[in-house]
Amino acid sequence: MEYKHFSHEHNLSMYQVQPGQQFRCSGCDKFCDKTIYACWQCNFFLHEHCGNATRYIRHPFHAPHHLILCPYPTYPSNCFLCNACGTTGTRFSYCCALCEVDLHVNCAFLPPKVSHKAHPHELILNLSNQTGDHNDVNQMCKICRKSLDSKHWSYECRICANYGVHTLCATTEMKMGLYQMDDGDCSDQGAPMAQQGAPMAQQAPIDGQVQVELTPEEALALLHIMGLKANVNAASYV
Ligand SMILES: [Zn+2]
Ligand SMILES: [Zn+2]
Ligand SMILES: [Zn+2]
Ligand SMILES: [Zn+2]
Ligand SMILES: [Zn+2]
Ligand SMILES: [Zn+2]
Repeated sequence: MEYKHFSHEHNLSMYQVQPGQQFRCSGCDKFCDKTIYACWQCNFFLHEHCGNATRYIRHPFHAPHHLILCPYPTYPSNCFLCNACGTTGTRFSYCCALCEVDLHVNCAFLPPKVSHKAHPHELILNLSNQTGDHNDVNQMCKICRKSLDSKHWSYECRICANYGVHTLCATTEMKMGLYQMDDGDCSDQGAPMAQQGAPMAQQAPIDGQVQVELTPEEALALLHIMGLKANVNAASYV
């Protein structure tokens, strides 16, 4: 069985990673486990969930526009700064080219709430600190004790005052996957922790086209991205 992914010119095949093997995912740059999509002639690998990431999403963090899955950064620096976690990325991102919003794939699908053994209460994803009411200058992540930048996302306890942790600290023990997120409203979702280890591959075939209606601005931005891609490809074949 072969698969086609828009970011790669060759067909991909499924492969089960064996203990001791190390493959780095070309989507998120992290090591792969379990099932991957592979192109052996290029050493190109994708986590199942990275390969199945849909081409467009609506995300409550950036409600006005769709975020488009870009196979690589379109900035001259060849990297992007993730608005969610504040770290750079060089592989896939969900981006709004109109507004220069970029999210790692894993960050875009962070579950709206998590449980962590470090804290008895559920932690809720805070997409940004527009809530200016507790803009403590020196908030610390309660797990790693490093500073918590109010510009980036965090998980917070709604019961305890000022209990915030980094998104990465809250989710290190979790298996990343594609968590379902409804338009706009995360509040009444079941805890996605229950879905750990249950990849949703079957819900999004790798070559499936997602039907979305892009606004004219978004379509232009997409053309712009694809134009850049064509240029990059052309350049690399010269
Ligand atoms: Zn990946
Ligand atoms: Zn290849
Ligand atoms: Zn990120
Ligand atoms: Zn935008
Ligand atoms: Zn932390
Ligand atoms: Zn609490």
